[in-house]
Amino acid sequence: MPNPIVIGASWFQEASFCEQKLYLSKVKKIPLIKTEAMQKGALIHDTKFEEFSKAAVPATWEEFFKSETLATSREVELQHTGNNVILLGRIDELACDKDGVYVVDDKPNDYAYIGVRKQIWAYCHLLENNFHELITKPVYAVLKNRDNGEIVWKEKYTGAHKEQFLLAMLRLRDVLSESRKPEPTKNPNKCAKCSYNQACEFSLAKSN
Ligand code: SF4
Repeated sequence: MPNPIVIGASWFQEASFCEQKLYLSKVKKIPLIKTEAMQKGALIHDTKFEEFSKAAVPATWEEFFKSETLATSREVELQHTGNNVILLGRIDELACDKDGVYVVDDKPNDYAYIGVRKQIWAYCHLLENNFHELITKPVYAVLKNRDNGEIVWKEKYTGAHKEQFLLAMLRLRDVLSESRKPEPTKNPNKCAKCSYNQACEFSLAKSN
């Protein structure tokens, strides 16, 4: 049995932009320059976590998942090993009330692209595998606009989502273990803003 492949939940969004880009970054280890938008995103996350920490009241996970009134936690780090994958994730916000458990990701987006949905389903998968004995309420995948806090997408996590996520995870595992070739994007606009566009053999935006 080969060593398990490490996959971060956020990589599903990156793979959806371009699988080849993820491959160059994670397997070929070509350094990725942090853009201004990435640095701004990290700063906003840190600030929200600091604000949350100041007002936080400690509780056990049992108390949290039983809560009938709204309980919230931030930056929840989880890990699960299965299918020869070590899946890692840090949930921006995890909330619970009498009706459900809410797995929330903050993004500067007003649309839940498929890659973002897979990322949030990865968190739901991690949650299920870490707390299956404690969760008796439906789990919802939620995308919030990071800048105004509005809910962009909210959907109950179902068996169909889990199936779709697992297929994506196995595909990514095979790409990262180099048993499957990564698929480059066919969208020249993505190549135009990709920091690998001069190094990538499939670039549709190479200057000669
Ligand atoms: S240049 Fe284009 S094909 Fe190559 S990694 Fe970047 S986005 Fe993908």
